[in-house]
This record gives sequence, structure tokens and C-alpha cells, in this order.
Amino acid sequence: MAETIECKNSIYAFSKDNEPIQKVGSGAQVIIETYDCFQNQITSNDTEINSIDWNQINPATGPIYVESAQPGDILSVKIDKIELGQEGVLTVGPDLGVMGHRLEKFEAKMIPIQNGKAIFNDKLHIPLNPMIGVIGVAPEGEPVSCGTPGAHGGNMDTKLITEGATIYFPVFAEGALFALGDLHAAMGDGEVGVSGIEIPAKVTVTLEVIKGHSLKNPLLISEEGLATIVSAPTLDEAAKTAVEEMIDFLLPHTDLTLSHLTMLMSAVGQSQISQIVDPLLTARFFVPKWVLDAYKVELFK
Ligand code: CA
Ligand code: ZN
Repeated sequence: MAETIECKNSIYAFSKDNEPIQKVGSGAQVIIETYDCFQNQITSNDTEINSIDWNQINPATGPIYVESAQPGDILSVKIDKIELGQEGVLTVGPDLGVMGHRLEKFEAKMIPIQNGKAIFNDKLHIPLNPMIGVIGVAPEGEPVSCGTPGAHGGNMDTKLITEGATIYFPVFAEGALFALGDLHAAMGDGEVGVSGIEIPAKVTVTLEVIKGHSLKNPLLISEEGLATIVSAPTLDEAAKTAVEEMIDFLLPHTDLTLSHLTMLMSAVGQSQISQIVDPLLTARFFVPKWVLDAYKVELFK
């Protein structure tokens, strides 16, 4: 029977010093309840910016201590199921997101979820793409706010982090100290306005420790393919590092030279933007599954 972790057990920064709220064995399935990124403080379109406690933003439920995880290992997180709440919220405001320099006041818009769609208005019923905005482990050094992404994961706002995908994290602290939050009912690449359709949720994951392999940045696999996910001060740097990480990962799995693998990546790989609105920017490099199948690439075997 999977343990359920309640959302009141939440952190605002990923840190080695966080006290675990639950210990689980490698291979355990856990059900994690999450607040939305505003800790459910926005309840109507009239919510004023001043009524929000901005110290209670981007809570992640956890941290969960995974037994046997040691620095240098990998934590595998399989996203088994995402169950969304009944209502989400979109927000914009001055100095927030790409348009923040042209917007004069904070605005919130409640978005009901009905019949598998997010209801923007009478004309626009948005297809859902439920995804996890904040997910990760304790970082190597100083604590990192749950609003910032990095090598440890965190606020990557990457729409591929969804049901059915498995995401791998480098472990920096004993027990990994895994946490997640900031679910979106739908979000486009870039998250340009500064929010997805922010929503409380319940997420079921399977956590497993992998020994004998290591990673520098998060790596994701799904039915569609493989993605390296990198966050950096600029999108250029994030996008280029994501390409190099993919090439370094695939090289030992193929009989290709560096030149020929680079040619292949140029022909079939996709440089994609995850988000351009957080304190570091996140890009990914995606390789379709059929390329992995051709070389029978098995991750971390
Ligand atoms: Ca986010
Ligand atoms: Zn969010």
C-alpha cells in the first residue's frame, strides 16, 4: 500500500538540511498531495496581490528520504499518476514574466476544470497537459529556493514532466531528500506569462535508487523519447549544455564517432525551451525514441 504524504508537509527551498518527513525504501510507491504554487491562497479573480503571503510561494511537498541513496547515485522517479484538483488559476503582473514591463497590475483568473478541459472562457476550452513544475532533490551546496531550477531539478517548469515519464536526478545528499509541487493543468513551452494553470493535485510516483551510474543534470525518458534538461543564467547556455549532455550520454551507447553522433543529433534532435521566466532559464534537448531503439539504448543498465 503506497504511503500518502499530505501537502502541509512542505518546503520552500531544497536543502541538505531539511528534516525528512518520511523515509521510504528504494522501489517504494508514494502518493504526494500538493498545494498549488500560491499555496492555495488565490481563491477568486478579485484576489489582491497584497493579500498574498509571498513567503508562502512554490511549496514542494516533502522531503522524502529514500533509503540507500548516497551522493553520486541517481534517483529515478517514475510518474505513475497525476490527479488534478477542480480549479486552477492563471496569473500575470508587473515585473512578472515576459510581458511584465507592459502590465500595470497583478491579475488572477480562476480556471475551472470540467470534462477534461480547462475552461478559459466560453470559446476556449483548453486541452489539459497535466505536468509537474517543481520536482527534485537536495542540491549540492547552499539551499535553493523552490522557485529556482538547477542541477538538482527544482522549478524546471518542463511540460515533459508528466504522467508516464521517468525522470532521473543526480543525488547530492544522503537519502536524496526528494520533493515535488507546483502542478499545472496546462502550460505552454516558455511559461511566458509567469504561470501555468496552477492547481493543487495528487501525484503518485515510484522512487528508486540507481547505483554505479551518475548524472550532472536531470534526464527524462518517456514513450516519445529522451530529454536532457538544463537550467542556466541564459537560454543559450542552457540549450547548448543540454546538447552536450545528450551527446556525452549517447556516445558510449553507440558505435558512432563524435562527428557522426553530432551529425545524427543535428538531423533528429530537438532543442526545446522549457521556461524563460524563472531566476534561471531551462532548456532541453530531445531525441526521439526510435533513435534509442536502433541502438537498443537501455538507461543505467
Ligand atoms: Ca513553476
Ligand atoms: Zn507553477
